[in-house]
Amino acid sequence: MQSKRKTLKVISASLISLIFLPYNLLQAAAKKIINPTLSDEQKDIMFHEGTERPFTSSLLNEKRVGFYHCANCGAKLFASNAKFDSGTGWPSFSEALPGAFKTKIDYSFGMKRIEYHCSNCGVHHGHVFDDGPSSTGKRFCNNGLCLIFKPEN
Ligand SMILES: [Zn+2]
Repeated sequence: MQSKRKTLKVISASLISLIFLPYNLLQAAAKKIINPTLSDEQKDIMFHEGTERPFTSSLLNEKRVGFYHCANCGAKLFASNAKFDSGTGWPSFSEALPGAFKTKIDYSFGMKRIEYHCSNCGVHHGHVFDDGPSSTGKRFCNNGLCLIFKPEN
């Protein structure tokens, strides 16, 4: 009974994502490549909501003081003091800078998740969860390839 209910839940989530598909395509069309040097992998993540393989980001061990910027448009998104090691294999942050992102509900893969994208250029960055360890309770799970770190001088 329980597994039947779970199956129904997955099916309904898939149907919802089908309904949202045209909307997502419209959203994708609105995004523009601002940085002409983006790699194919970066474009896949940012414009098609892909995900980089975990534990591959060079930013995982970045501990310097500074800011994380959008790799497409350069907007400032996170301060280094919000970064923490979540153990998930993706750069993780307890909070974003005010107004840095917009969110939408993502029903892909039969899950309901909150997707967030750059407020300035619209590209996908990651998903935000409510299981963060700090007082904000948030965990921004960000693809490292979408970020450029600029250390403070
Ligand atoms: Zn951007």
